[in-house]
Amino acid sequence: MATKAHEKRKTQTCEEVMWYTMTQDPLPKELYEILACPMCKGDIAYNKEKTALLCRKCKIDYPIKEGIPIMLPPDMRV
Ligand SMILES: [Zn+2]
Repeated sequence: MATKAHEKRKTQTCEEVMWYTMTQDPLPKELYEILACPMCKGDIAYNKEKTALLCRKCKIDYPIKEGIPIMLPPDMRV
């Protein structure tokens, strides 16, 4: 049983590989240069622990949902 599960893990689909890549580093590096904090236009960094983008100046987290960063100020989020 355990061996079968291991075999299944070995044959990853493209989607699984993509997801793995996304969870490691969800956005291309070029995107970090384009994206800026909507509040202060400052630089943003990836926060691995929260799986979110973090503005260094405001200390505001911008969550990444399904690979898409939600670049909205906290008071504009539903
Ligand atoms: Zn900011």
